[in-house]
Amino acid sequence: MAIRTILHYPDKRLRIPAKPVERFDDELRALVEDMAETMYAAPGVGLAAPQIGVSLRLFVIDVAIADDAPSELRTFINPEFIEHVGTVCYEEGCLSFPGIHETVDRAERVRVRAQDVNGETFELEADGLLAIAIQHENDHLEGKLLVDHLSLLRRRLVHRAMMKRASADAEAVG
Ligand code: ZN
Repeated sequence: MAIRTILHYPDKRLRIPAKPVERFDDELRALVEDMAETMYAAPGVGLAAPQIGVSLRLFVIDVAIADDAPSELRTFINPEFIEHVGTVCYEEGCLSFPGIHETVDRAERVRVRAQDVNGETFELEADGLLAIAIQHENDHLEGKLLVDHLSLLRRRLVHRAMMKRASADAEAVG
């Protein structure tokens, strides 16, 4: 297992739509383990493969982290939404936007179909933080980011903050 580097906005790789997972093998299992370890180390409640530069349709979520409760790790591979119900506003963060929190409109409840790490198909109905996290992580698979849900003004402010951070990081390295 290894902690992978999380890409930060405006890295262009975060904009590439991910490809379906076709092989459910040891390599995929190792990738899922690395993603979970990277998410817990960050820490975050979810991490999508494109955030570590792997262009595949999968993400991991553990909403128990938010409450310091025992682990409830879930893996979603090749997910598809079956239903969206209601609307809810929620203040979201993203591991690719360190230090940024923005209010986003999401569906209150979702029904999703996905495969697990063995390729078995499952369906899940989610609400609360789990529903928000599923929608947020699924956006990453389409190359869609937190900023895309914001007004033009908020988007500019976040962009500026992230560019400032990127140049501060470059200075620290140099
Ligand atoms: Zn994110």
